Amino acid sequence: MQKIPHTSAPDTGAIQRMNALPTAALPQPASCATPTSAAPHTARLRHFVQQLAALVESTPPEPELLARGGALLGALVAHDDWLPAAFAQPNPDRYQQYLLHADALGRFSVVSFVWGPGQATPIHDHTVWGLIGMLRGAEDSQAFARTADGRWAPEGAPHRLRPGDVDAVSPTIGDVHRVSNAWEGQTSISIHVYGANIGAVQRSVYLEDGTAKPFISGYSNATLPNIWDLSRNPAPSA
Ligand code: FE
Repeated sequence: MQKIPHTSAPDTGAIQRMNALPTAALPQPASCATPTSAAPHTARLRHFVQQLAALVESTPPEPELLARGGALLGALVAHDDWLPAAFAQPNPDRYQQYLLHADALGRFSVVSFVWGPGQATPIHDHTVWGLIGMLRGAEDSQAFARTADGRWAPEGAPHRLRPGDVDAVSPTIGDVHRVSNAWEGQTSISIHVYGANIGAVQRSVYLEDGTAKPFISGYSNATLPNIWDLSRNPAPSA
């Protein structure tokens, strides 16, 4: 797994090995300010989807795709004023995965991943490339690697994503991890992009003894945000 450099700067095409941060040493924010805008700037999401579709259409090699896609995602999560509230709702029973956009040809999908306080995933894989951009709050990701006897063991230290940070996964750079809300008392939200219709992909969760359990995640929502009504969603000024 790789951490994409902050992307407010022009894309350099470079992917750097993520810096593992000791999460215990990092202060917990005192509060999480949830945007209250009644008119979210969904044009940001539309612009992102359009840019990403053009990038995927050009079929770049995976390192270039992750670097340039990571830059686009970094620009999206640099602002927290565009995600409609319906796709930012936590569920007390489990984390939520809301579909925001699915490419018509199944080449990519965009989801909001909403963590309730203290919620975490099992160890899991993705089987396709993925980009994770932190929008609100924070999350901790622990990579796992197979041991010689087939078990899963933590690989390196966990690292923390904060708003604006972008991480990457794929079968070629590291695909298995466990993720948790870094905050015990607040909702956190990350925006994910995957190289498939991720809710329909058969993949696996794992026990540390190596046992694999196939799953297909589906999505938490039944309807999608309307990001295509240009009369309601003009481009933001900044
Ligand atoms: Fe994941």
